[in-house]
Amino acid sequence: MLLNKFLKASVRSGIRLQGSSAAASVATPNAASLGFSFELSDQQKEFQQLARRFAREEIVPVAAAYDRSGEYPFPIITKAWELGLMNGHIPQKYGGMGLSIFDNCLITEELAYGCTGVQTAIEANSLGQMPVIIAGSEAQKSKYLGRMMEEPLMCAYCVTEPGAGSDVASIKTRAVKMGDEYVVNGQKMWITNGGKANWYFLLARTNADPKCSAGKAFTGFIVEADTPGIQIGRKELNMGQRCSDTRGITFEDVRIPKENVLIAEGSGFKIAMGAFDNTRPPVAAGATGLAQRALEEATKYALERKTFGKVIAEHQAVSFILAEMAMKVELARMAYQRSAWEVDQGRKNTYYASIAKAFAGDIANQVASDAVQVFGGNGFNSDYPVEKLMRDAKIYQIYEGTAQIQRMIIAREHLGRFKN
Ligand SMILES: Cc1cc2nc3c(=O)[nH]c(=O)nc-3n(C[C@H](O)[C@H](O)[C@H](O)COP(=O)(O)OP(=O)(O)OC[C@H]3O[C@@H](n4cnc5c(N)ncnc54)[C@H](O)[C@@H]3O)c2cc1C
Repeated sequence: MLLNKFLKASVRSGIRLQGSSAAASVATPNAASLGFSFELSDQQKEFQQLARRFAREEIVPVAAAYDRSGEYPFPIITKAWELGLMNGHIPQKYGGMGLSIFDNCLITEELAYGCTGVQTAIEANSLGQMPVIIAGSEAQKSKYLGRMMEEPLMCAYCVTEPGAGSDVASIKTRAVKMGDEYVVNGQKMWITNGGKANWYFLLARTNADPKCSAGKAFTGFIVEADTPGIQIGRKELNMGQRCSDTRGITFEDVRIPKENVLIAEGSGFKIAMGAFDNTRPPVAAGATGLAQRALEEATKYALERKTFGKVIAEHQAVSFILAEMAMKVELARMAYQRSAWEVDQGRKNTYYASIAKAFAGDIANQVASDAVQVFGGNGFNSDYPVEKLMRDAKIYQIYEGTAQIQRMIIAREHLGRFKN
């Protein structure tokens, strides 16, 4: 808690980072004259170091045990909350630190290095909160964001359904207005933090006309998790990130007060999709953190393991695997940082966010698989850390828009620029 206050104080003192929206006015003379800099500000280095130390001291030692048990890592989440390593983007007005997306990404990369199951649980809070941050009224923000700064609470983003993931406009959950309330019926699937959330962002169809455009047919709601009629499904047993809590949620005649509509009826699709411009950069940062861990584990192993009279790092074939891994990690980091920086400048970053998410998701899988290769037989065994990395990596090509959906977005944005 002390450190949380310390970080908040340093944020309030006005030290700002180059990646933040406030950066232009306070950039160092050197950075300003160069126009661009890879140097982090002192405050960014402080965040990064704190998160790095936390990941290595608090997450790495327990990650394998959480992976085996599948238990929700609430003790780690509580410590992260106390240190100010989560919910960083909640504006200062509501008790948060108001960090830029860039700063949050730096923290996310470090947490992911420790365990991406833990990082996903923490990141799902950002995903659940983002629609409220970008579209909530003062009253909604103060109530639902404010409470997350008072105690370590979780929230969740409820959009995907058993029958519709990539094709969001096909979701079937219905919300029908009755007096001052909406009555919701439907089923959601694969909801991260589903069984742990205090409240949900929910996307539901409010216009029954199949001809109504997606931009008008859906509404975004904030839903208290203890509302009668909400049934939480079993914890899903996933391939990786096993301590993260993924569930189906059924809504049966769930009554939501009209005050909990975000913006207005019909605005939900834009809000749900708009959140991704802010949340895909951190997802890419998470994938980069995993890849960095794989690179470091493989490098350490290659410098110790001997075959044919020398350490395997001295076999050119192995050193080239490491070189390829390093190239990919460096480029993924640049991609997420660019996409975060763009949105922090107040510019539309959809193109960069999808590039970062697709690239980092792909390379996390390649680099984790390469790490297993460098470990040989040991890499296939759960006594060593890299098989977990390989399992954990896969989801980065699936959630928050699959690898194929990202390419569709990149192609649309790219071709759109040429057509214009
Ligand atoms: C562990 C986990 C956590 C998740 N957390 C959340 C969460 O917190 N909240 C939430 O709302 N959702 C969440 N999801 C859901 C996730 O976002 C979806 O699984 C994802 O968007 C893909 O949707 P789908 O599973 O329905 O696959 P589908 O949409 O059925 O896609 C199946 C395959 O077809 C491909 N495909 C689909 N359409 C096209 C197309 N037009 N062109 C080319 N290829 C296409 C896809 O890329 C994929 O390879 C989570 C999922 C998992 C597994």
